Amino acid sequence: MTTKIALITGANKGIGFETARQLGAQGVIVLAGARDEERGRAAERALRDGGADAHFVQLDVTDDKSVQRAAEWIEAEYGRLDILVNNAGTASVARRGAAPSQTPLDDMRAVYEVNVFGVVAVTNAMLPLLRRAAAARIVNVSSEAGSISSQSDPASPLRQMMPASAQYPSSKAALNMLTAMYAKELQDTPIKVNAANPGYTATDFNGHRGFRSGRRPARWRGRRWARPLPRRNGTRGGR
Ligand code: NAP
Repeated sequence: MTTKIALITGANKGIGFETARQLGAQGVIVLAGARDEERGRAAERALRDGGADAHFVQLDVTDDKSVQRAAEWIEAEYGRLDILVNNAGTASVARRGAAPSQTPLDDMRAVYEVNVFGVVAVTNAMLPLLRRAAAARIVNVSSEAGSISSQSDPASPLRQMMPASAQYPSSKAALNMLTAMYAKELQDTPIKVNAANPGYTATDFNGHRGFRSGRRPARWRGRRWARPLPRRNGTRGGR
């Protein structure tokens, strides 16, 4: 079987790093995207120390030149891409979790730049490479926070737990719809497009307050979506 090649954005820590580690453990060549060279090289070393065939790729999803350079490098080195995990995400703005009525537009833009526009930029840049793979996979790392059903159901624990805020939940709802639209566009190709919810996971993202450990969600999901799948027609989008 041909060795698969996976690009994970935001792979220098948290869920992205763990996804890279587990894909590497399955023999997949791991391209660890990170916007900061020092953090990216440190992740590359840690992944290699764990036995993965890992390579740091400088990739700031909000920087068109960085995205383009990454696509050109992957094309020159490998000529194709089998798996793209759009994992990089943020909620880090000055007024994180502010009520919608108190949310500055600059904060909205900052979160959307990474969680929404960054996904479109990276996906579009990588699509020509994904089309060259036998059966490529795109996984968008979403969140239940982006579920309109959960956020509007008074009985939902998520609604009870999360205060009303505009930036992050709406960015993930937009990501869910983007997933469905890419899946629709690519439905007659061997490329499958999915979104995955890792669950509330202890990472820097939430000051390590999540219920799940850094390893559990990626391992659980790894069985379902990070594993290289056999060639099959059809695509799927969803939350
Ligand atoms: P994390 O530990 O804060 O990691 C976020 C990653 O995204 C870091 O590598 C960060 O890089 C990177 N990133 C941020 N902005 C970027 C940019 N402009 N370009 C490239 N990379 C960028 O968070 P996490 O918990 O692992 O989150 C990963 C994904 O899971 C996110 O999409 C998040 O929304 C989603 N998620 C998390 C949870 C949870 O409970 N943790 C729940 C549901 C969904 P730097 O180190 O350079 O900042």
